[in-house]
Amino acid sequence: MIRRLSFPLPSTVLVRWLATLLLLLPWQAKAAIDVGALQGELNLGPHVQLLEDRAREFDIERLLRHGEGLEWTRPRQETLNFSFSDSAWWLQLRVENTSDRPVRRLLELAMPLHDYLDGYVVDAQGEIVREWQTGNRRSFDSRPIDHRTFVLPIHVPAGESRTVFLRLDTHDGLYDATPLYLMDDASFLAKAQRELMAFSLYFGGLLALLIYNLLLYLATRERPLLHYVIYLGTFFILMFSSRGFAFQYWWPEMPTFNNQMVPLNIGLFAVTLAFFSDSYLNLRQHAPRLTRLLYGVAGLCLVSALPALLGHYAPVFHLIIPGAILLSCLLLGVAVWRSLCGDTLARIYLVAWSVLLIGIALYFLRVAGVLPYNIVTEYAVQVGSGIEFLLLSLGLAWKINQFKNEKLAAERATLDLQRSLNERLEAQVQQRTHELEKANQQLTVMARTDPLTGLLNRRQFQELMEEELQRRRRSGQPLLFAVMDIDDFKLYNDTYGHHAGDEVLVRVSTLLLDYFRRAGDRLFRLGGEEFGLLLAVDSLEEGQEALEKFREALQGLSIRHETSTYGVITASFGLVACHGCDAVRDVETLYRLADQAMYEAKAHHRNRVVTCSRLKSCE
Ligand code: GH3
Ligand code: MG
Ligand code: MG
Repeated sequence: MIRRLSFPLPSTVLVRWLATLLLLLPWQAKAAIDVGALQGELNLGPHVQLLEDRAREFDIERLLRHGEGLEWTRPRQETLNFSFSDSAWWLQLRVENTSDRPVRRLLELAMPLHDYLDGYVVDAQGEIVREWQTGNRRSFDSRPIDHRTFVLPIHVPAGESRTVFLRLDTHDGLYDATPLYLMDDASFLAKAQRELMAFSLYFGGLLALLIYNLLLYLATRERPLLHYVIYLGTFFILMFSSRGFAFQYWWPEMPTFNNQMVPLNIGLFAVTLAFFSDSYLNLRQHAPRLTRLLYGVAGLCLVSALPALLGHYAPVFHLIIPGAILLSCLLLGVAVWRSLCGDTLARIYLVAWSVLLIGIALYFLRVAGVLPYNIVTEYAVQVGSGIEFLLLSLGLAWKINQFKNEKLAAERATLDLQRSLNERLEAQVQQRTHELEKANQQLTVMARTDPLTGLLNRRQFQELMEEELQRRRRSGQPLLFAVMDIDDFKLYNDTYGHHAGDEVLVRVSTLLLDYFRRAGDRLFRLGGEEFGLLLAVDSLEEGQEALEKFREALQGLSIRHETSTYGVITASFGLVACHGCDAVRDVETLYRLADQAMYEAKAHHRNRVVTCSRLKSCE
């Protein structure tokens, strides 16, 4: 006995084709089924008689009138499958109750997507005792038993027989497999519970994965997670609709909408699958052309689902099946290629897809009668897709972890770069500061010194001498100050030129620096060829002695000066000493006194030192 689960993916029609080709099992017709002795579940495939109503000319009355003369045939399949057919199909089944009590048996058409099902129970006298008009294209409350598949209760009194007629028809020629079962209430209950438990586990698992990944997406905002959630969501709705649950629980009053949902969801599933595979495997980056082809095929699947909105279903499946096969081959090819390139994610993807394909293959083989019916073959596709989504979710977690590591590495690199930039900037700032300080020092020196001789300038003379005077007043120490003026310098310039005069000024300054190098010595260029000397000595004698030595040294330089009295460069000195300096009012006074002494030296043939120890006598 073969029982089959409906599988609404594009592969469903493939299954039907395969079943048509492969299920050429021996026909064992029986005149009537003894429902009194029936226990468990009976596959009705081999027990029915079949009549094709090409012109849809029969109704039940006409059938009952001409029933015997019509060409009823025996189906050649274990599970009936009319595939694409424009005819209506009549099924006839004889049941008898040889027991001594009335029995109720349930006849199930286990295909939730079947369009139109009319059922009639006729007694031995040819009277219709029960009839139903139901199907997926009719409101859900047309079903005698509230179930996702079609279940008709057949009552047979003790010792009587009944003939059951079923009329199968479709909206536009698209049949699916029509597995038919007859069973007692207990078997139906057990089967329904078993199925519900399996589906609850399956849909619950998918929902848990969906919610988990959605939360993960909200936390991380990583796009592959969103694509996965949409892809899984579409698959969930597709499976929920095609298994009949959506019609039963979500929209029982909307049969048309319910019918549109399946093909539309297949198209949407193809598109979301393309998006997910692209972001999961980074396809756009690795193979942009192939990715475009992938989106093209997926888009074609979606477009070919659109006629369903206008009520055309058969053409949808004619287009969508090759599209889905092409899409699957493309994705598998890409997964193999990326896996061979060493991409770990692609390997996970390949394993995930392979698991689903194994599930589908097991399902095919069971339908083909190669494998027996058992729990594995019954739920192979569900298990396969469940594992697929679980593996893909694991792959996503791995990918997100990779993203995180890459992000961390990038952040670390940015920090390093920032640090090295800061260090470079700091070094540059330090260098600039240093240069600026140096320039400032130079400026300060320039502001304080005379550019030609390098001695302190007139402004410094004013400031420093002011301080010195105050200090001597406080300490009572003597202060010795001299003014020096080069003799006949104008004549020198006139004779040797201004430039040579400059050189003389430099040489005289160098000699001054050479002679007066004590810590307290200060040398000033007061202007032109006139210099000021603050001497670090304690008495007028010492100062005079120091100046004499210098004067001789200058003369000893023998800088030729033809037009001067001495034939060489000489200078005249005026030295002033103040003790405590209380009598000296200011720097000007001090300078004036020294200058007077110096002019005295000029007046006495130049090239000499004149001192002024007592101020009164100086005036
Ligand atoms: P005296 O012996 O009386 O001091 O005569 P003198 O010629 O040295 O004095 P005077 O004041 O008449 O002349 C000073 C000269 O110094 C005038 C100017 O040509 C020269 N002089 C002043 N400053 C500079 C300078 O920076 N460079 C040069 N080469 N000459 C200068
Ligand atoms: Mg002068
Ligand atoms: Mg002079």
